[in-house]
Amino acid sequence: MAEFALIERIRARCVDARDDVRLGIGDDGAILAPRAGCELVVSTDTLVASVHFPQETAAADIGWKALAVNLSDLAAMGAEPAWATLALTLPDDVPGFVDGFIDGFAALAARHGVALVGGDTTRGPLNIGVTVVGFVPEGQALRRDRAQVGDAVFVTGTLGDAAAGLQSLGLGPRDVPRLLALPPGTREALLDRLNRPTPRVAAGLALRGLARACIDVSDGLLADLGHIAVRSGVGIEVMVDALPTSAALGVALDVAARLPLQLAGGDDYELAFTLPRERIDALHAAFASVPCAVHEIGRVVVAPGVRVLDHEDHEVAVPRHGWEHFA
Ligand code: ADP
Ligand code: MG
Repeated sequence: MAEFALIERIRARCVDARDDVRLGIGDDGAILAPRAGCELVVSTDTLVASVHFPQETAAADIGWKALAVNLSDLAAMGAEPAWATLALTLPDDVPGFVDGFIDGFAALAARHGVALVGGDTTRGPLNIGVTVVGFVPEGQALRRDRAQVGDAVFVTGTLGDAAAGLQSLGLGPRDVPRLLALPPGTREALLDRLNRPTPRVAAGLALRGLARACIDVSDGLLADLGHIAVRSGVGIEVMVDALPTSAALGVALDVAARLPLQLAGGDDYELAFTLPRERIDALHAAFASVPCAVHEIGRVVVAPGVRVLDHEDHEVAVPRHGWEHFA
């Protein structure tokens, strides 16, 4: 399919129904009207086959995930998503890919009222770059550099499912058991978290004015908490017994086997955040209307670094903290 036919197909499936889109796909640039009293939060994430998704992933799942990982960054900033652009590099041997891809992308965009306002389409090895823009009231964005000693550390949802899903495809770390025989539904539940992550947008909005520091867990809990620790000039202790575990993961792996996935597996797209202890009641009140749980998993301390502690406060050795490109 020619480039312009492709773009037309994308445009036809992503209606920009927002009235702050003055001019969407079709010109040299989009014209967008920022909201009065708000700051813009901008974030970009690229997806590469075999790095960010297994080669055999369905096109619709790739489309969903490409937007989800970006919305997760906006959620971590406490921003309300508004607009997206899409840079697609496609090999010419993937007929039907664009339709499937846009199906997944558009389904998640519609859920969050995000308008696709532009992009770029070129030929080459499969590569997907998405940029998202969101609004946050002036001065209220959540950041990595505001944690304070004494803060409690929380995480949304559950940890380790996506990494276990990868494991069930034989693509995870070798020192974790292969997940070959699982009860019906369990593998599907884990793979769903890997392929169709839920960006915690409502949680991010609820955390404005409550959280001190916030990050989304994309590379592994310990690695991402490490970013908060470094940027805030503090240390973080994680209580190993407090990690939230889904029913599916509980069935799939025992505690010892799942721990490395929960601490360092990545692809969770949960929010990890700190807040002063006196705001914990307000946190639970705010999350009464947010469709995900929150669990306290640790505390902010003076000594730099991120440590994992057992119930007697003894340090637990962990083989790795997370995923790193170029490592
Ligand atoms: P130009 O050559 O001026 O950069 P293009 O021909 O690349 O413009 O794109 C034409 C229009 O289609 C632009 O509005 C651009 O934003 C949009 N567009 C191109 N590729 C995509 C895509 N993958 N997704 C969404 N919009 C796209
Ligand atoms: Mg141009």
